[in-house]
Amino acid sequence: MPSNTAAWSSIGGFIGLQAGAALVCAGCAAVLPPDWLRPGLPLLGQAAALLAGWAWLGGRRREAARLRRANRELAARMSERSDQLAESEARLRLLADAAPFPLAMNRLAGGELIYANARAEELFGTRLRQEQALRVQDFYVDPAEREQVAQSLRAGKPVQDREVKLKNAQGREFWALISCSVVKSEQVWYVINGINDISERKRLEQRLHDANASLRRHVDEIELLQQGLREQALRDPLTGLFNRRHLDEILPRVLSHMLALHRGVAVLMVDADHFKRINDSYGHRCGDAVLTALGAYLSDHFRSGDIVCRYGGEEFFVLLPGASLEAAHAKAEGLCRAVREMPIEALGHSLSLTLSIGLALSPLHGEDAETVVRAADEALYRAKSQGRDRVCVADPVPSLQS
Ligand code: GH3
Ligand code: MG
Ligand code: MG
Repeated sequence: MPSNTAAWSSIGGFIGLQAGAALVCAGCAAVLPPDWLRPGLPLLGQAAALLAGWAWLGGRRREAARLRRANRELAARMSERSDQLAESEARLRLLADAAPFPLAMNRLAGGELIYANARAEELFGTRLRQEQALRVQDFYVDPAEREQVAQSLRAGKPVQDREVKLKNAQGREFWALISCSVVKSEQVWYVINGINDISERKRLEQRLHDANASLRRHVDEIELLQQGLREQALRDPLTGLFNRRHLDEILPRVLSHMLALHRGVAVLMVDADHFKRINDSYGHRCGDAVLTALGAYLSDHFRSGDIVCRYGGEEFFVLLPGASLEAAHAKAEGLCRAVREMPIEALGHSLSLTLSIGLALSPLHGEDAETVVRAADEALYRAKSQGRDRVCVADPVPSLQS
């Protein structure tokens, strides 16, 4: 203590002065021993000691006065400083209390809440009271989520704009955007939490998401319908085979593509013989059933790379890309034979049917769709005129080895 030290040094000085005066008197007595002076020597010594003591006391008073002044100045400065600190603390508290968003502070270890501003107390539906400690974890819906946040903070990583599900003291759950930072004060780590209630935003997001999903479903349905319509536009409703419109669309492309590859395309024009008789004898519906069965049989008879179309009425058209004349001819002959030998079951009737087929080959009988189709049609006409139930090859007819 500085005052004690001063006191103790003052006491030491006083003792020194007393001893010095005694020594001066003793020295004088040893060096100057005139008899007339001897009786007055003790008096002189005491007077010197008194003078020295008087001087010492004066110095002590001045020193004490200086110390008192210094003390007063120090006390004034401390009071001013503590006023400033109190003012600054009041400002900070006002700032936190009146902040337009919820703010809370808790101990990092244990999670005990030590401060919550008015907005935070309002959001969580509770007040911080000394007698009842609240912990941050009490306000998390998912404890695992709280643990993740705490782990990050313990690792020194602040949490920035994290979406978490919280609940208030009454158990009402809500979405919040939180930001947390860690601070240290007097050897204790604290967490400062900024909390933003984003339930409304989340609700709108969810509605938007639901609306998007519903819209997506509608678009998918529409696309499916459109695809169905496109398919329908290309398909014959009775047999399910491609229709003539599709054939008209793809035939030129198939021909030019295969021509570029120096490969042939065989086409078959297939017509049911005397079909009118079936209608006349068994009715139109029975005729429909025969056409449906014939279409299914044609689909099965040819390879998947071949394209079978209903050309119109009781006529069918088959495209065999890459087939040689021999292979196509053999395939057509096989079809003729099979249909001839196979009774067709239709609406309880077992019917016999024969086919006439005209065969043409690109590029032998023409390179464009129109010429090739006309060649196949002429060959079919020939098959009809030669007695039906047969295959005729378009002109010129090369020698076939089948
Ligand atoms: P040909 O041997 O000369 O080909 O004789 P055909 O009777 O088969 O030929 P024609 O051109 O004289 O008659 C075709 C018949 O096919 C007439 C028509 O009623 C029938 N037909 C065409 N389309 C359909 C259909 O979708 N359903 C039914 N049931 N009959 C059809
Ligand atoms: Mg016919
Ligand atoms: Mg016909």
